[in-house]
Amino acid sequence: MVTTLPSGEAFDTLNPATSEVIATFPVFGEDEVAEAVERAHQAASWWAGLSWKERRTRLLAWKSHITRYIGRLAELMHAETGKPLADAQLEILLAIVHIDWAARHARKVLGPRRVRSGLVAINQAATLEYQPLGVVGVIGPWNYPVFTPMGSIVYALAAGNAVVFKPSELTPAVGGWLVSSFAQVVPEQPVLQLITGAGPTGDYLARSAVSKIAFTGSAATAKKVMAACAQNLTPMVAECGGKDALIVAADADLDAAADAAAWGALSNAGQTCVGIERVYVAEDVYHSFVEKLADRMAEVRPGEDREADYGPMTLPDQIDVVERHIADALARGGRPVIGGLASIRKPFVGPVILTEVPEESRAVTEETFGPTVTVAKVADLDEGVRLANASRYALGSSVFARNKTAAMAAARALRSGMTAVNSVIAYASVPALPFGGSGDSGFGRIHGADGLREFARPKSITRQRMRPMVNLTSFSRTDKDMRRILSLATMLHGRRHR
Ligand code: NAD
Repeated sequence: MVTTLPSGEAFDTLNPATSEVIATFPVFGEDEVAEAVERAHQAASWWAGLSWKERRTRLLAWKSHITRYIGRLAELMHAETGKPLADAQLEILLAIVHIDWAARHARKVLGPRRVRSGLVAINQAATLEYQPLGVVGVIGPWNYPVFTPMGSIVYALAAGNAVVFKPSELTPAVGGWLVSSFAQVVPEQPVLQLITGAGPTGDYLARSAVSKIAFTGSAATAKKVMAACAQNLTPMVAECGGKDALIVAADADLDAAADAAAWGALSNAGQTCVGIERVYVAEDVYHSFVEKLADRMAEVRPGEDREADYGPMTLPDQIDVVERHIADALARGGRPVIGGLASIRKPFVGPVILTEVPEESRAVTEETFGPTVTVAKVADLDEGVRLANASRYALGSSVFARNKTAAMAAARALRSGMTAVNSVIAYASVPALPFGGSGDSGFGRIHGADGLREFARPKSITRQRMRPMVNLTSFSRTDKDMRRILSLATMLHGRRHR
């Protein structure tokens, strides 16, 4: 990744399949980032001052604008990342579903509500509401340049914040398109701004006067961003990588499991945070599953033409990581079922299935982020869960099983933040479900009610409705008052529980 772009200069964004220059963008320096954040604070006051309905109307107008121009945005994504047009359209559709949900649910999730004040504070009316934080800095990756940053941008905007967005230096044109489309429906104030550049520009944003950072990228970068945020005690949400497992039970629909595993591993050239990188299969069905998966994956082809199933590797350096993981797996006795080192034909990587790969190999422990998958034999679902959980990452996972009770038990036992039963990645298309992980996959959540609350601060208010029976917060409190309150407490809370 380019990390040394000097501020004040410009950088090009390239088509990864052809190396053609798509557009040129300025590198934002420290002062320019600080100025953008200052403008954002003013815009945030205006945006937060609108009613829930006024914000909802504007967000829904943005949604319909994006929907109407889906073809144009998809073309730009295809050019800048190399992903097939249909995949780009699907990604935009998912983002649209989230704009719609966040716009329609913000008031219900965040708006003022009365809560019970309880017997001790019976004279108080208690109100809870979630207020905007101010300005949210969003730092995005390149692999899903619409769906991923929008998971933070849309929920932050719906919660009443302004946003300063730094897309990946590999996808600034897509980021720029999103920001200017928002400005067309909200022309009054720079509620959503674009800043462009590489790591240092992101670092300036993390050290600036933002109220929170929403970071999506690798765990290694998240640590640097967190250190920068520490300077001002700026909170952050970290959406990092994964090493997602798919577990196949002995009673699973093997055709469906093989089809889903192939798509989960290969779509977007495997450059998916919730892509399937490991498969654990019950021994009774292991051989038939591997055969079906091999048949399915042998039909899949990378390329830049319109018929290709997936595109080139967007980030050229990632090809070396994929190569190292395959070489390490083979050196430790792994067996290639489909493809191998010869599948690497830069900038493309053909599908690779590796079996008999020891669990301590890099292809099993580290994020590969390429169109490769390891398949291992396990005794049953329980062993699959145990091996799936033995990872530093815990983002998504999948379970294939016909027995609903066993499938749900395995889903619950998986440490990942999200699990799809009998499909892959389905949770990302349910806007009410929070998205995020733990361990090296990060912390905090985007999407759903938790995603809205991630960009808001709880505000608790009590209003005294009548004089208290006993005024405990006064120096006029007497010993008799204290005795009365203690006997009330004993009555309410002192009974033995069996
Ligand atoms: P990356 O960590 O290299 O970069 C992410 C962003 O951080 C980029 O915009 C980059 O310019 C910026 N950055 C780099 N150094 C910085 C610094 N010191 N301070 C501030 N910002 C800095 O990641 P990437 O290669 O763009 O994306 C791929 C990674 O993202 C993979 O690990 C993938 O799994 C992960 N990802 C996670 C999710 C999720 O939702 N959990 C979604 C998509 C991608």
